[in-house]
Amino acid sequence: MGLFTLFRRQKPKINVQIEKKEGFDGWIKCSDCQEMLHQEEVSKNLECCPKCGFHFKFSIDKRIDLLADEGTFEEMFSSIAPKNPLKFYDSESYTDRIKKAQKKTGEKDAVRVGKCHIAGQKTMLGVLNFAYMGGSMGSVVGEKITRMIETAIKEKIPVVMVCSSGGARMQESIFSLMQMAKTSAALAKLSEMQLPYISVLTHPTTGGVTASFASLGDVILAEPKALIGFAGPRVIEQTMRQKLPETAQKSEFLLQKGMIDGIVSRKDLKETVGFFLEMFTGNVTQPQRGVDKLDALINASTKMRQAHQVEIVSTK
Ligand SMILES: [Zn+2]
Repeated sequence: MGLFTLFRRQKPKINVQIEKKEGFDGWIKCSDCQEMLHQEEVSKNLECCPKCGFHFKFSIDKRIDLLADEGTFEEMFSSIAPKNPLKFYDSESYTDRIKKAQKKTGEKDAVRVGKCHIAGQKTMLGVLNFAYMGGSMGSVVGEKITRMIETAIKEKIPVVMVCSSGGARMQESIFSLMQMAKTSAALAKLSEMQLPYISVLTHPTTGGVTASFASLGDVILAEPKALIGFAGPRVIEQTMRQKLPETAQKSEFLLQKGMIDGIVSRKDLKETVGFFLEMFTGNVTQPQRGVDKLDALINASTKMRQAHQVEIVSTK
């Protein structure tokens, strides 16, 4: 027996590649269900996973095309550009970082605002650009959003804002933080004028953006499984010395806790935003359709809450 073991041929060690490698031309791996997907297939599906519905990041151009009625978006205040008021320098100067971000995105700063129609409703639309320094809010972002809101007040039209941001831009320090107060004050004026504001939170929306205009919507919608919070999970865990549940700070959790009003898939976003604009501005052309849609939305929210509660219990 011992001899047998001694002379037994060792099985050759072959590393079997279990997981498919990333980086094949045109192929990506879904970060949620781990399926290999072809980029083209994902693009056709509004950058959502055709297998599990995971929402990938969505470019600012595609977002505007998705929401605004064709050919109606008119960009405004596009000439406002950032400066480096504090002569900020970390591993490189803020001025160089701005130049790089501008070259990468072709945009002066991290937000695009303008006037458009959404489902036939005249509205102001702002979209944060995560590709530009993580959609961070510096003085230009704050200024453009404030001007957008002021234009809405002047023209008596609603505001729709799509957020994706890492928060206030640290390179502008106090000038960034001031934008939280400025945009919030502008929204308070909008509210006084009884004009609606719809906020759409997408993955990820964090920091000073969550702590100001992103959370001030009359209706706050979010895309599924988006990370939404003030401090990131790592910072919270370090401070509290406690592990956060995996679902914390996700849209579904926030819906359950009442921080947001609804979770809407990208494919239904335009219709839902259009519905609320119609409802708030009193332009409901087909009242029954409005009631049906609202019922459907409430049902979907209830179902999502129920589904999620089951999941939370099972993780404990
Ligand atoms: Zn997937």
